[in-house]
Amino acid sequence: MNRNWRKSTLCVQGGYSPKVGEPRVLPIYQSTTYKYDDPEKLAHIFDLKEEGHIYSRISNPTVSAFEEKIAQLEGGVGALATSSGQAAITLAILNICSQNEHILALSTLYGGTHTLFSATLKKLGIEVTFVEPTLSIEEILSCAKLNTKAIYAETIGNPALNVLDFEKFSSVAKKLDVPLIIDNTFATPYLCQPFKYGANIIIHSATKYIDGHANNVGGIIVDGGNFNWNNGKYPELTEPDQSYHGIKYYEEFKEKAFIAKTRSQLLRDIGCTLSPFNAFMLNIGLETLHLRMERHSENALKLAEYLDLHEKVSWVNYPGLRTHSDHKLAQKYLPNGASGILTFGLKGGKDAAKKLMTKLNLVALVVHVGDARTSILHPATTTHKQLSYEDLKKSGVSEDMIRVSVGIEAIDDIIDDFQRALNLV
Ligand SMILES: *Cc1c(COP(=O)(O)O)cnc(C)c1O
Repeated sequence: MNRNWRKSTLCVQGGYSPKVGEPRVLPIYQSTTYKYDDPEKLAHIFDLKEEGHIYSRISNPTVSAFEEKIAQLEGGVGALATSSGQAAITLAILNICSQNEHILALSTLYGGTHTLFSATLKKLGIEVTFVEPTLSIEEILSCAKLNTKAIYAETIGNPALNVLDFEKFSSVAKKLDVPLIIDNTFATPYLCQPFKYGANIIIHSATKYIDGHANNVGGIIVDGGNFNWNNGKYPELTEPDQSYHGIKYYEEFKEKAFIAKTRSQLLRDIGCTLSPFNAFMLNIGLETLHLRMERHSENALKLAEYLDLHEKVSWVNYPGLRTHSDHKLAQKYLPNGASGILTFGLKGGKDAAKKLMTKLNLVALVVHVGDARTSILHPATTTHKQLSYEDLKKSGVSEDMIRVSVGIEAIDDIIDDFQRALNLV
């Protein structure tokens, strides 16, 4: 295997390279345990002196191949798969933040991340300040505190669809000497590789485009290996871990310390592990990621252009449209396509939006994005309902917003379905 292969090749063949006589296709290692004949060797693996699988809560060969493929696609030094995107976000934060510490996060985050930050992390004593994406560098810096440990943002906001100004946010992160953590779920590594633009840690809900077929819930954390944890702010990485017989992750693993610590400490204790079967399925999803993302982006742009001209439509939000406020950022960071999600509003408002959803045939009302099938949703009454009215506004969700995850069907059929349904509202 060649790490310098192009992304399309890595999608198909990355992560797993069989030796002579081994299965051509990544096998499902449906085993919790691993056989050894030398207790010394097993002790060494336990001590993290040697690599090897011990127990499938911590690692498994099928899961490792999936992790390696994503690490290659993102250009990272290592990755750790989890049972869901939410689990990936939680572990990534807990790996570097404890009680009485602070994070800066964009206000336009996915609803689930927003509640994780504003309710559950708060309960653990971690404080999150939400900043609007349009603030200046100085304004964002003024929201930072002495105990700020990370900046958290999405490449493409869900569902505001704002494109992250990587230059601005990575320069803030550098000034504060904290890592920039990026949720790259909507863009996928095929459309954007955030490590190139200053991100230090990437997380994905693999449930979405990586899976691509609405079959599996999963998540992953990728480390860019490009942050200096030895800057005095991250004693958990540089000082001895008493829960792991005094290991110092940074000293032992250097630029790979972040994932090593997440795995040996948090995955060990919390156990939000991805199953081998799900890793196998997610790996199949990745084999067509490059083809799907091209078609998702192409279809979304065509549907956005169609809706934009429709007399019953009051607004359309898709970063690939030339009229979009972040179109310049989309051209810079998403040159190969702006992914498959768009939002729009009808002149008839929320009631017309709800009616439209009952009239569609090919397009289904589904709480999901990133599926090969076109899906539609009303965020204000579903994914973002747990947010307060103010937070809803700051997250960019309006009452009349309709979110479409444009699938990879024939675009003419998708447009025909909207045309017919729009005639009925
Ligand atoms: C869905 C989603 C998540 C959460 O992932 P799960 O796999 O559902 O836990 C996080 N971030 C974004 C942008 C998402 O769309």
